[in-house]
Amino acid sequence: MNIPNSNLPRIIIIGGGFAGIALAKSLKNKMVQVVLLDKHNYHTFQPLLYQVATGGLEAGNIAYPIRKVVQEYKDFYFRLGRVNEIDVKNNKIIADIGELSYDYLVIATGSKTNYFGNKEIERNSMSMKTIPQSLNIRSLILENFEQALLTDDPKERKSLINFCLVGGGPTGVELAGALAEMKIAILQKDYPDLDITQMQINLIQGGDRILDAMSEKSSKEAEEFLTKLGVKVHKDVRVTGYDGRHITTNTDLTFDSATVIWTAGVKGASIPGMDVNAIVKNAERIKVNSYCQVEGYENIFAMGDVACMIDTNHPQGHPMLAQAAIQQGQLLGENIIRKIKNQPMKPFVYNDKGTMATIGRNKAVVDLPHYHFSGVFAWFVWMFVHLFSLIGFKNKAVVFLNWVYNYIRFDREGRLIIRPFKRKSFYTFTSDEV
Ligand SMILES: Cc1cc2nc3c(=O)[nH]c(=O)nc-3n(C[C@H](O)[C@H](O)[C@H](O)COP(=O)(O)OP(=O)(O)OC[C@H]3O[C@@H](n4cnc5c(N)ncnc54)[C@H](O)[C@@H]3O)c2cc1C
Repeated sequence: MNIPNSNLPRIIIIGGGFAGIALAKSLKNKMVQVVLLDKHNYHTFQPLLYQVATGGLEAGNIAYPIRKVVQEYKDFYFRLGRVNEIDVKNNKIIADIGELSYDYLVIATGSKTNYFGNKEIERNSMSMKTIPQSLNIRSLILENFEQALLTDDPKERKSLINFCLVGGGPTGVELAGALAEMKIAILQKDYPDLDITQMQINLIQGGDRILDAMSEKSSKEAEEFLTKLGVKVHKDVRVTGYDGRHITTNTDLTFDSATVIWTAGVKGASIPGMDVNAIVKNAERIKVNSYCQVEGYENIFAMGDVACMIDTNHPQGHPMLAQAAIQQGQLLGENIIRKIKNQPMKPFVYNDKGTMATIGRNKAVVDLPHYHFSGVFAWFVWMFVHLFSLIGFKNKAVVFLNWVYNYIRFDREGRLIIRPFKRKSFYTFTSDEV
């Protein structure tokens, strides 16, 4: 990897997401050598992926070059590469670009989509965790409409413009709202020779309410907002199979759809090599103590979505949210320096700043620790929180201008099929593990 040897302790960070970037910033110019690796050369602002998928924003608006974040940091190295294994005995990582030894290792690899072992669903459905995947969804939506114009088979046409979103968490809810708006603002104008009333958006939720990690009020209001936008919300329905065209469920309900977007589960993106006892079974998150130190290892840490830190308030670990990742990253920087200086580390205490979700134009729900609100004011709060959380002034400015333009013009400029999404056969998609 061509990293120079030095007398400084070497800290390797795997992942330049919310946690990795927060840690990098807190280790800036701290008399340590830092090597940050990521399989992408950019940081992704995942909360706005759904806007890229529905043509509201361009991919570059929610990505930021990692090199630009760290370019002025001393003894700091970024390498573009995927880490495949950790050799804990020899204190080194094994990546597709080579091997590198560490004094301290921090795993901040985030999460990946969980299909709960259902290979058929994994093969045939779309996932939305990365920018390439969002662009695939955008292309597929538009390609389906183009295809629907060409077919003479009414059943096939219906299936092409029947969009099924599985999972009623924030991602499914926000995507459903944005698709409903895309239908009204773009698709019915762009495809006047197609009967737009045939376009369906189905949100399928396994539990008895959507947004089940938020308050009951938020769930109820979000469902009302979605229903008003024309989204069909199906609760207590679990998808059991999808062959690329037909969805089966644990009830009598079935769907005929060319597009299934799976947002029903996530699991930690852990890396092989550590003791199996350090990994939470099924969730695949790495067990850490209150200092983000991996169970059974002195010099290996994990933070963000991939880490499972259990305390009395969080028996399943902290929520997989950007705030938890950022706060852990900030503290871990301070703690590693303390450890190097033989000072006691500080335990992590999560500062819950609340959760929110937006459901199309003018509507959002916000749960603060002791207060709930919704509607237009919540929507403004949602916009400003997301705007200020984006990295880079240019991204903030461009996203803001885009939103103002889209709001005033009822339009979305990003409805371009730049990189067509290729299907193996008509209804079987190419798996895209990126
Ligand atoms: C669609 C969507 C919407 C969301 N909306 C919200 C929201 O509104 N509010 C909120 O708080 N949270 C939201 N989240 C969750 C939030 O984005 C995560 O909690 C947060 O990104 C976790 O940060 P992290 O640093 O742990 O992981 P990530 O930000 O996912 O970063 C992980 C990094 O590791 C890299 N990586 C992974 N594996 C490897 C490897 N083997 N080798 C090298 N690099 C690797 C990845 O490329 C990535 O850059 C959303 C998530 C998604 C997917």
